[in-house]
Amino acid sequence: MKTGLRVLIVEDEPDVAELERLAFEREGFRVEVADSATRALERLRYAVPDLVILDLMLPDLDGLEILKYLRFREELSGVPVIVVSARGEEVDRVLGFELGADDYVVKPFSPRELVLRAKAVLKRVRRQEGPRVLTYGPLVLYEDQFRVEVEGQEVKLTPTEFRLLATLLSAPGKVFSREVLLDRVWGYQYEGYARTVDTHIKRLRKKLGPAGKWIETVWGVGYRIRSLHA
Ligand code: CA
Repeated sequence: MKTGLRVLIVEDEPDVAELERLAFEREGFRVEVADSATRALERLRYAVPDLVILDLMLPDLDGLEILKYLRFREELSGVPVIVVSARGEEVDRVLGFELGADDYVVKPFSPRELVLRAKAVLKRVRRQEGPRVLTYGPLVLYEDQFRVEVEGQEVKLTPTEFRLLATLLSAPGKVFSREVLLDRVWGYQYEGYARTVDTHIKRLRKKLGPAGKWIETVWGVGYRIRSLHA
């Protein structure tokens, strides 16, 4: 399984959060912890994780409300969610699954088992989606092979450049601000500067050659892939 997948752990108990973080990081995941529902919702507004680990009893809101929010928002509706809760009653489990949880783990749990379950869920989701190939103008990006071609010729990109291009290509015409790109490409914890984005965009354009002009600068806002219909 590809590493670097991003997990958002929503958990208010620091010890539990730390156990989960370690277990996922050991397997190559990138982890962010939100210790309240408010923080979790804030994160979700800016970045779409690959997986959410969700505690139900949070200080400010029931975790099920976060689950509802995830299923309601179109761009988040495909994100797998594993509920981890001390509430092991059948009624809670049923409600969790009804609201769209992909798995339900009852506390206390083994962090190792949680990661195994997470991998199983991610595999299932991936199988449904199939390999993603993003084609746009002269650009073809094979997401699972980490490969980019321009007019049939392979272009060698660094993992960061690859993620940057994949992000832009995920929504052609849409403008991505530098903050959003920092978040999605470099990750939650990266204390980067907007200039980092500019530098990488410059390199990416150069590597893409004639196709580089498909990455447009929107002054004062950010970057986007030129719309085919413009
Ligand atoms: Ca809790």
